[in-house]
Amino acid sequence: MIGTCNDCKKTAYLIELSSTALCKDCLEKPKTTKPSHYYKLEGRTPVPVATFEEWSAWRVSNYVQVALTLTQAAVVSTVFLGLNQRLSADKPTLVFETLVSSDKGSQTYRYATWDKAIKGHCKQVSKLLATQSP
Ligand SMILES: [Zn+2]
Repeated sequence: MIGTCNDCKKTAYLIELSSTALCKDCLEKPKTTKPSHYYKLEGRTPVPVATFEEWSAWRVSNYVQVALTLTQAAVVSTVFLGLNQRLSADKPTLVFETLVSSDKGSQTYRYATWDKAIKGHCKQVSKLLATQSP
């Protein structure tokens, strides 16, 4: 059937679905509007990438260490994960992570931006230094 696609409004051969009729292009394009799982960095800005394949190809040659601090008691490592830890459209994407590892165990803290990750990193280091014995 030739008609007007309900999505792109082009005149094309349509595939009829139960509630709508779409052209082949619209039928095949991803319908999802939820945030991407995968991000790469452009400069210091996380940019979504469409597929796991694209992300892993980027990630292989881009291990991004944002900050790394060794104290007497712990290692504080902040990296760009590139995996969105919060899949909800109305919440910020959390793609940076600080890992605090010590003999007491480890804790993680996640952030949406490079600047927040740096601030979070410094906060954890300050906390450790404040409790450190001289
Ligand atoms: Zn269409």
